[in-house]
Amino acid sequence: MNEYDTHLVASELAARGAAFVETVEEANFVLVNTCAVRGKPVEKVRSLLGQLRKEKERRREPFVIGMMGCLASLEEGQELADRFGVDVLLGAGAIHKIDEALSGVLPYRDTGFYPEIDEIIPPPPEGTLSAYVTLIRGCDHHCTYCVVPRTRGPEISRHPDLVLKEVEQLVAAGILEVTLLGQNVNSYGKDDPSYPDFADLLRQVAALGVRRLRFVTSHPMNFSDRIIEAIAETPAVGQYVHLPVQAGSDRVLRRMAREYRRDYYLERVARLRQALPDLVLTTDIIVGFPGETEEDFQQTLDLYDEVGFDNAYMFIYSARPGTPSYERFRDMPREVKVERLQRLIEKQKEWSLARNRAWVGRQVEVLVRGPAREAGWVEGHDQSNHPVLVPAAEAPGPGLYQAVIEQASPHLLFGRVTKTLVAGGGS
Ligand code: SF4
Repeated sequence: MNEYDTHLVASELAARGAAFVETVEEANFVLVNTCAVRGKPVEKVRSLLGQLRKEKERRREPFVIGMMGCLASLEEGQELADRFGVDVLLGAGAIHKIDEALSGVLPYRDTGFYPEIDEIIPPPPEGTLSAYVTLIRGCDHHCTYCVVPRTRGPEISRHPDLVLKEVEQLVAAGILEVTLLGQNVNSYGKDDPSYPDFADLLRQVAALGVRRLRFVTSHPMNFSDRIIEAIAETPAVGQYVHLPVQAGSDRVLRRMAREYRRDYYLERVARLRQALPDLVLTTDIIVGFPGETEEDFQQTLDLYDEVGFDNAYMFIYSARPGTPSYERFRDMPREVKVERLQRLIEKQKEWSLARNRAWVGRQVEVLVRGPAREAGWVEGHDQSNHPVLVPAAEAPGPGLYQAVIEQASPHLLFGRVTKTLVAGGGS
C-alpha cells in the first residue's frame, strides 16, 4: 500500500515538473513515506529524519523535508515532525494534497481524511510487469493492537469506474500482474450500495484481460462464499489466498477483538480447500500478544499443524501507543516473545518445506523480475505466489516463463524454464 501511495505522490510531483534524483545530496525536497504499524519502522523514520535535519542545517539553499503516511497521521509522528523541522506533513488520508502543500506557504500540515482520490494513477515506467491498484482505503475493524483505523480512517471504496479504467490502462501498457490493494479488500463496496461487491469486481477486473490478478489483504470475517466462488471461477486469480489468522487461541483472538474464533477460521479454510484443491494458503501471526500464556501459544502451534500453512508472516507483538491493547494490557517480556517466535519459525520452516516439496515436478508460470541474490539465477514468483528461481541463462530478462520445478527449500522453489511466454520488460 505504501509503495502504491509513493507512486501516486511521485506521479503528482512529476506532473508538477519535478525531476527525481538518486541521492539526498542532489535533492532540494525529500519526502519520507512512513509506516506506523510496528515500532521498528518508526525508529527508522526517526533516524532518517535526524539525517535530513543535519542535511538541512548544512545547506545554504532551501531544502524541504516532507513526511507522509501513517506515522504522519499520529501524534507520535507529529512530535517527530516538530523535533526534526519537517516542512510538509501529510497524513495517510491527505497524501493527494501534495500539490496544495507545495503551492502554499511552508510549513504545511494536513492530517485530515478526504474522500477517495478521483484521478487515475498513470501506469508505472515502461517495462514494469506488475502494478498495484487501490480498491479501498481505511478499515472498519478495530483490532486492539492496530493503528490503521486511526491512521487511515474508515473504509472508503474507490469508485468502480476508476478502478476498472486504471486496470484497463495497465493492461494496455503491458502490465501482466495486477494486485488489488486495501486494508480489507473483501469489504469493497459495503459503503456504497451502488458499487459491485468484491466478488463481482474481481470478475470485472479479470474480464479486462489481466493475465494474473492478486489481492491483499483479507479479513476472515469478510471472506464470504461469494468471494471463494469468484476466485474459483476466475483463472487469472490462481489458487493463492493470504488470510491473516493472528492467533490460534480463542482467548487471545477475543483480546485482539478479531471478531472470529478458531473454529470459524478453520471452517473458512475447509471451504476454501473444497473450492480450490491446489490452494496455497499464507497467513499473518502475532506472537506474544499481552496475556498470551504458553497454553495459548501452543494452540497457535496446533492451528498451524491443523491448517498446514504454506507460509506465514510472523511478528512479535509490538505495542503501539494509542492502541487499545497498549492502553489496556501489559506487554510481556521480550525474551518470552522472541523464544516463542523462534519455535513458530521452526514450525513454519517444516511446513513450508513439506508444502513446497509437493510442487517438485509441476509446471508453473514464473513472472521473472530480475537477478536473484544467488549468482547465476533470476527470481520471480509463480501464480501461487511462491518465490521461484530459474537459471539466468534460461530467462535472460524480466518476463513470463513456463518452468518445471526441480527442487524446493523452505523459502524457495528452483525451476528450469520450458517455455518463454512473454519476453521483455525493463524492470
Ligand atoms: S482488520 Fe487489519 S487493518 Fe483493520 S484493524 Fe484489524 S489488523 Fe488493523
